[in-house]
Amino acid sequence: MRSSQDVDITRLLVSFVPRQKLEGIDLAGTDLAVIDLHIRELPTFCPRCRNSALATVCGKASWVQSYDGDSPEPEAVVEVPVRCCICDQLYVALYATMHEGAFGDGSSQGWSDPHFFATVPPAIAPTLPSKTIMKISPSFSKIFDETVAAELAGLTELLGAGYRRALEFLVKDYLIFKNPERADVIKRTFLANCIKDNIDDDTITELADKAVSIGNDFTHFERRGVHEVADLKGLIVLVRRWVEFKEDAALARARFSSDVRPAELRVGLAVDDLTSGPTSKGG
Ligand SMILES: [Zn+2]
Repeated sequence: MRSSQDVDITRLLVSFVPRQKLEGIDLAGTDLAVIDLHIRELPTFCPRCRNSALATVCGKASWVQSYDGDSPEPEAVVEVPVRCCICDQLYVALYATMHEGAFGDGSSQGWSDPHFFATVPPAIAPTLPSKTIMKISPSFSKIFDETVAAELAGLTELLGAGYRRALEFLVKDYLIFKNPERADVIKRTFLANCIKDNIDDDTITELADKAVSIGNDFTHFERRGVHEVADLKGLIVLVRRWVEFKEDAALARARFSSDVRPAELRVGLAVDDLTSGPTSKGG
């Protein structure tokens, strides 16, 4: 592992050179003024290895663009190249800074402390591996993770179709897992009908049906809905939690309703918590 640079991030200074004049700001006749800014926050989640890891600055920062939209004050985005202390890979941290007053002679005076707001590539937290879901639908896990990878790579046009496909595998694999004798029928049935005909929980039926509808919309030539990929992803995560809960609850019921408790009936975290928590050690 790379030894961390001995820096006090509350006083770290980055310099950047504006490539063009900011609207309304006198750069004293030059666009080569160097502005020093104090970085007070570094990314703590690496978008490359997807670990919680502090980054270190590893190069010269650069000013990107100004905004003049709704803000009365000119704003700039500063790109700072950073390195992950775990995987050693580089990525870019983005900061916003605002010009709050008179711009002097190239110092940082008048510019606010840069506020960290995003990374490139975007930081997307990993999906937690679930033994229950891997047992029921390894295809769902594979498709979902591949779609997340596409999201990390910025392939935004693929996401709706990817998440929609993941949802279909999750629901159908679960229904087939519970009703293996009906596998052929479930495979042939439209997903929306599968949900309506086979799931008797009103809440999850409503959420899953909404996810199907949003997912289908992403595959149309002309989209009709206003929902975003994040909405679809959020609904799928809820359906996944429901599947996990149903299966883990069924295993727990089987385990605790029987005198014989074979190891294969031991379920995930929920039951392990019940049987090996700190109270059992502490007495
Ligand atoms: Zn990393």
